[in-house]
Amino acid sequence: MKQRSDSEWVARAAPGVRGITPYEPGKPLETLAREYGIEEAVKLASNENPRGPSPAALDAARDALAEGARYPDGNAFALRAALARHFDVAPEAMTLGNGSNDVLELIARAFAAPGEEVIFSRYAFAVYPLVTQAIGAKAVITEARDWGCDLEAMAAAVTPATKVIFVANPNNPTGTWVAGDALLALLQQVPAEVLVVVDEAYAEYVDAPGYRSLLPQLSDYPNLVVTRTFSKVYGLAGLRMGVAFSHPEVADCLNRVRQPFNVNHLSQAAAAAALDDQAWVRDSVAMNNRELARLAAFCDDQGLEYIPSVGNFLTIAVGDAAAVNEALLRRGVIVRPMGAYGMPHHLRISVGLPDENDRLMETLKGLL
Ligand SMILES: *Cc1c(COP(=O)(O)O)cnc(C)c1O
Repeated sequence: MKQRSDSEWVARAAPGVRGITPYEPGKPLETLAREYGIEEAVKLASNENPRGPSPAALDAARDALAEGARYPDGNAFALRAALARHFDVAPEAMTLGNGSNDVLELIARAFAAPGEEVIFSRYAFAVYPLVTQAIGAKAVITEARDWGCDLEAMAAAVTPATKVIFVANPNNPTGTWVAGDALLALLQQVPAEVLVVVDEAYAEYVDAPGYRSLLPQLSDYPNLVVTRTFSKVYGLAGLRMGVAFSHPEVADCLNRVRQPFNVNHLSQAAAAAALDDQAWVRDSVAMNNRELARLAAFCDDQGLEYIPSVGNFLTIAVGDAAAVNEALLRRGVIVRPMGAYGMPHHLRISVGLPDENDRLMETLKGLL
């Protein structure tokens, strides 16, 4: 029988899938140990909470484990109630996801058909192009302004084929942000049938005048969707939990395409407990903001350019970032090279614990 080459399967994939460059996650510590034989490494590559989850969330997850033989509550009644109390949003205005990446994909699948347009910015979060291409929709990329979202360019890019606009605020991987008023101006400009998705994965960290969450505006704009995650300040990246807040009818559409048990009950229990421990969030934010300032001061001292950040990471220019990244890996420091984002000179460094940041700074200083 004739041998066929593997690559023919790529040619047979759905048109959008053929063009996708797979998401490259931050290297796990185990992978560095396996590939480089380095055990005592620090990972500052995926914007996780370096303090870990709240102890209360861990306890709740441990207790939930005993019920592992049962299907989870597909409607996540208890977690929705906790989210409703915390965010002052009605439970029927929520869609839960296996991480917020899951809800971002649900939004694209539920609302954009092949050939229709999805707008996002250059240097935007990598998941927006992924979910757009996977469904065969057309990515419309607006040019950045000072590395951040140019909302006026986004409004100008809207056509009758536009279905969704994604704005991360703050944005990853740049750490840039847009003012609440500017987002409201965008919402007023775009047609009411275009969904504007504001991804607030890092909202808890932001301490900037003019920044605000758009959650209080949900009832004013039926086309507004706000997403949040438990992967960042809540320290539950490994358990996967995210949420989209929207008009209940939008939530109804998202729920139609959602897998019935997409959020497992360990993460439901942990997320509800994590929400109740706001002291853990406050302390995590305080530590982050002190350490972020220390990293920025280090860059100033070393004459390293960086993009001013309001998140839990700092994106810095180091020349040949792929080479610097490799040298850091060999010294047991995992950061994120930004080549896949079209930023070949940049490394994104997640803010770690004080001693982890010391290690990063000492190692980087030795390399430069
Ligand atoms: C990390 C991140 C998320 C969170 O993804 P999860 O799937 O919830 O882990 C969402 N949006 C942006 C911009 C992020 O950087």
